[in-house]
Amino acid sequence: MNILRLVNLFKEVHSLMGWIVDIDTEKCNGDEECVNVCPSGVLEMQDGKATVVNIEECLGCESCVEVCTAEAITLTET
Ligand code: SF4
Repeated sequence: MNILRLVNLFKEVHSLMGWIVDIDTEKCNGDEECVNVCPSGVLEMQDGKATVVNIEECLGCESCVEVCTAEAITLTET
């Protein structure tokens, strides 16, 4: 398999994968760290809590999970 075919196969598989980002609003302390670290604009603050607004753009990078000191975020691959 040549490299171009391999890259296209990876893109195809990646496009079929998705992510669920669950934020426990009871735990969220509203520090906005996840909103600031997300490279894709998936999260925004609403009423002092982090909220998922653009899940289609999630890369599954786990940056939001790692930065959350309240451990309020769960990332699940679909
Ligand atoms: S996993 Fe990455 S891309 Fe997805 S919401 Fe968290 S920081 Fe954003």
